[in-house]
Amino acid sequence: MRIAIAGAGIGGLTAALSLADAGFTDVTVYEAAPRIDPLGAGLNLLPNAVRELFGLGLGTALDKVSVRTGNLEYRNRFGTLIWREPRGVSAGYRWPQLSVHRGLLQAVLLAAVRERLGANAVRAGTRVTGFTRPSSGTARVELSHGPGVLAAREHDLLVGADGIRSTVRKVMHRGDPGPRWNGLMVWRGNAWAQPFLDGATMVIVGDRVRRVVVYPMSRPVRPGEPVLMNWAVARKLPDGQPADPADWNRPAPADRFLPYFADLVFDWLDVPALVRSGNRALEYPMVDHDPLPSWTSGRVTLLGDAAHAMYPMGSNGATQSIVDSRVLARALAGHTGTEDALRAYESARRPAMTALQAAGRRRGPEAVIDLADERAPDGFADAAEVFAPGELATISRRYATLGAFDLETVNSPARAGNDRRGANRLADRRDMP
Ligand SMILES: Cc1cc2nc3c(=O)[nH]c(=O)nc-3n(C[C@H](O)[C@H](O)[C@H](O)COP(=O)(O)OP(=O)(O)OC[C@H]3O[C@@H](n4cnc5c(N)ncnc54)[C@H](O)[C@@H]3O)c2cc1C
Repeated sequence: MRIAIAGAGIGGLTAALSLADAGFTDVTVYEAAPRIDPLGAGLNLLPNAVRELFGLGLGTALDKVSVRTGNLEYRNRFGTLIWREPRGVSAGYRWPQLSVHRGLLQAVLLAAVRERLGANAVRAGTRVTGFTRPSSGTARVELSHGPGVLAAREHDLLVGADGIRSTVRKVMHRGDPGPRWNGLMVWRGNAWAQPFLDGATMVIVGDRVRRVVVYPMSRPVRPGEPVLMNWAVARKLPDGQPADPADWNRPAPADRFLPYFADLVFDWLDVPALVRSGNRALEYPMVDHDPLPSWTSGRVTLLGDAAHAMYPMGSNGATQSIVDSRVLARALAGHTGTEDALRAYESARRPAMTALQAAGRRRGPEAVIDLADERAPDGFADAAEVFAPGELATISRRYATLGAFDLETVNSPARAGNDRRGANRLADRRDMP
């Protein structure tokens, strides 16, 4: 089967590896960018995605470039703890949660794709500009290699993993309004800094108008040495819709946004100092997509952000694109008809992702920060003054169940998208940390 994937991002590369693992070897990944540079800042991968990546034999490579996230803490604008929960292995999962630089994750995936599918499996500088569905039932993929150089190739399947500005999505759903902005602007970057708290904690600090997310993505090489820290700060802006609502990589001077966060100085973390010490900040309007009524048309399907972009809250962007990829490959391996496999994939994934997109619009698990600010705008000594017993745990558990990354689901022997054939048995043996 000749398979084309649009986009060599996290979802597209994981899809290529998952397809190879399921026995499909004629896979070509078309990437619009002329070179695959290590772009972006930090990502968190939840244990349901890490389980799949370890299953693909990437555990050792990933452990080298990431930190196993031990705790997640939500704090109010005074730095007072609202809620702390252990994450990954510390919470009893068989797989860790990983904090990793997006570029390093992409590099691990890319190296594995080239090793397993060949040096030419990823074609950089080749943009998918559209597709048609000839009467043969295949997918005719339209490509451009720079201005004026056009080609079309016939494939038995086209997977649109071309991110939040997906062309495949646009061609499939002509009336789709595109990314929607919620009025928040995000600035993000990296800095080498001293570890804070236990060196493996992700903190989310804020109030009803601001958010700050900070976590380490490396361990100190020697005691006392700095680690690579990811930071992201977000705030509602009065401005109108930004020119490009899905541009992750627009540089922004720190003076443009730091005044909004000047008070966030705690004895364990100084947010303005961290931002100033780092590399250039990038600005990104917080956007998502409206849920789609379908992800599939004939032999063309969508995954990752192209299918279900959601607000970057709750660590689900990269996580769910990885799970999509594995479920799709297992469905193709487990069905004789491609269309049947695509139907099985979509029905296993789309309803859950639609619910997760909706939860993101309600601020997902970060709603606890808004609630704390609403109920105690001047702060509190102990979160028990503000929240009923069990209230915070219930919010966290509900969100985990919605995204199928709760402890029971992830640790259960049943796998996401449980159609499988012999090809996956190898993965089953490899997937323990
Ligand atoms: C440059 C960049 C930086 C990012 N930085 C962060 C970050 O710091 N933190 C974070 O949480 N998330 C970041 N993201 C988003 C995050 O990677 C995704 O939300 C998540 O990983 C889902 O992955 P995806 O594969 O669906 O999409 P993506 O990872 O966005 O990958 C999509 C890929 O498709 C390519 N592409 C787009 N259009 C076409 C086309 N027509 N033909 C061929 N290729 C095409 C893009 O160049 C990209 O490589 C970033 C995305 C990008 C593209």
